[in-house]
Amino acid sequence: MDTLDMPYGMLIKKMYCHKCGTQLTEQLLYNEYHQKRLECGFSFLSFYIRLRPKTRREYYYIYKCPKCGNKISYSNQCKIEQVQKKLNKKILDEADLDRFMIIM
Ligand SMILES: [Zn+2]
Repeated sequence: MDTLDMPYGMLIKKMYCHKCGTQLTEQLLYNEYHQKRLECGFSFLSFYIRLRPKTRREYYYIYKCPKCGNKISYSNQCKIEQVQKKLNKKILDEADLDRFMIIM
């Protein structure tokens, strides 16, 4: 079964792009894993074992800026939000990020 968890904070908070100040939108992405699953059974009185390819997808959300196209993970955006609140501005420059030791 594929899993899909949107972080709770993503549902309730409005986040803003630190590059242009636009409100960010959520974007659903996924990683795809290819696995083989061993399957065995009977057919016409003979026993068989075969490998069945199985694709598994892991979904996750990121934030995307509709204006400048900036993409950022939820955890990084949470760090950005803290700095935006502290400095009381939405747009942050490199120096601001360095000061709060935010590594993208
Ligand atoms: Zn932006």
